[in-house]
Amino acid sequence: MNIGANTRNLLKSLPDYVQLVAVSKTKSVDEIKASYAAGQRIFGENKIQEMVTKWELLPKDISWHMIGHVQRNKVKYMAPFVDLIHGIDSIKLLQEVQKQALKNNRIQRCLIQIRIAKEETKFGLPPDQLNELLEAAETLSHVQVEGLMGMATFTDDRAQIKQEFEQLNALFISSKKNWPKLTILSMGMSGDYPLAIECGSNMIRVGSKIFGERNY
Ligand SMILES: *Cc1c(COP(=O)(O)O)cnc(C)c1O
Repeated sequence: MNIGANTRNLLKSLPDYVQLVAVSKTKSVDEIKASYAAGQRIFGENKIQEMVTKWELLPKDISWHMIGHVQRNKVKYMAPFVDLIHGIDSIKLLQEVQKQALKNNRIQRCLIQIRIAKEETKFGLPPDQLNELLEAAETLSHVQVEGLMGMATFTDDRAQIKQEFEQLNALFISSKKNWPKLTILSMGMSGDYPLAIECGSNMIRVGSKIFGERNY
C-alpha cells in the first residue's frame, strides 16, 4: 500500500466540487500522516474515543469528521473539535449536540443521516421524518445542519445501490427548496463512490481505497 500515492491519485481524479473524507478508522497515526503529507486534510472516524486520541496526536489543521453512529453520552468528548458530524438521526441527539456546542462556544456543523438501505441494521432517519428534524434544528442556536448523509445497502447489485443513491439525491434536492442551508450530500465509499458522484454526491467517504483493507 502506498498511502501517499493513493491519496494523490484519488484527489486528482475527483471533480473540484467533491470533497474527500479519508476514512482512517482502525488505521495508525503514521498511516494518517502519510495521507496528510500527500495533501489530505479531512479525516473520518467512526469511534469517538479513537478520534479523540488521534486528534491529540496529529496536526491541528486536520478537519475531523465523525461518520459513525453517535452515542449521546459521548458527544461531549468530541464537542471541542469535531468539524462535521455525519450521523445525526434523532432530535434527542441533536439536543445533546446543541448542549455540548454551547459549552464549547462553537457552532456545530452536522449532517442528517437518512435511512436509504433496505437492510434492517443500518442507522438513519426515515426520509418522511426529515422535515420535523430540520424544524427542530432551526430552534437550536449552536447547531448548523448543512446536508444529508446516507449509506447504500451492502450488496453487489449496482442497480439497487444506484436506486438508493438516486432516492437520497432526490430528497436532498427537494429539501433544499425549503432549507437552502443544505449544501452537502455525503454518499459513496471505496466500492461505490464513482456511482455516488454520478448520482449527485459532493462528499465521499473513502477508506480502504486509500489505506488498504482494515484488520479489525
Ligand atoms: C468505514 C466507512 C466508510 C469507508 O468504507 P470503505 O469501504 O473502506 O471506503 C465510509 N462510510 C462509513 C460510514 C464508514 O463506516
